[in-house]
Amino acid sequence: MAVALIVAAGSGERLGAGRPKALVELAGRPLFTWSMEALRATSGIERVAIAVPVDFDGDASDFDVAVPAPPPVLCVRGGATRSESVLRALDAVGPGDPVVVHDAARALVTAGLAESVIAALERDADADAAIAAMPVTDTIKRVGADGAVSETLERRELWAVQTPQVFRRAALERALDVPAAELARATDDAWLIERAGGKVIVVRGSDENLKVTTPLDLALAELLLAGRSAARGSSRPSL
Ligand code: C5P
Repeated sequence: MAVALIVAAGSGERLGAGRPKALVELAGRPLFTWSMEALRATSGIERVAIAVPVDFDGDASDFDVAVPAPPPVLCVRGGATRSESVLRALDAVGPGDPVVVHDAARALVTAGLAESVIAALERDADADAAIAAMPVTDTIKRVGADGAVSETLERRELWAVQTPQVFRRAALERALDVPAAELARATDDAWLIERAGGKVIVVRGSDENLKVTTPLDLALAELLLAGRSAARGSSRPSL
């Protein structure tokens, strides 16, 4: 059975809400509870650990979420970097393989997407990790410190990476067992696997699985959740 880690300990400065992003209200409740609900509803996940901001002194079970049954949720204090938060959650979550890692900032993740990434890793015995990603639609250029373009990258080969990312546990534990400076450079966990020569495969994610970073993203996420609840004929937005 799988376990899931949600990293929710970032400061969220770019959102400018004056408090950690995970605690900002999205459609009536803290942002991190949306992905908590989605991963608890994902089949095959038996426990969830959430790395929470240092100034969060509640318990995840305090929140009104739509999945009353197990799997249980544990809260741990996050670290100074994203990878440290992953490590702390991994230490706390207990046994289980594979390990699903998800950014709380991607609050609109669905159980269906998490299940498809888990299934992709199950199908490929050689892979160490499977990650959600979307083909890039913009043209991407490399730009120097002087503002001048040095290169235009081949768009057909480019994917914008999302979470969930699903790892064989031994591979993730090995990848995270590196000096703190290396951990600090990682903007996702799959990079730590790649640099150690591991195989990472990509699964098509979703446009709706956006990362809430700016006030515009938050407004868009509210709209998408309202659309989902309207589609279900419910007054309370839910997944
Ligand atoms: O800011 P960034 O894009 O790296 O954040 C990605 C995710 O990592 C967010 O969900 C954020 O809450 C989490 N994070 C964390 N601990 C940190 C920094 C970021 O859990 N120290």
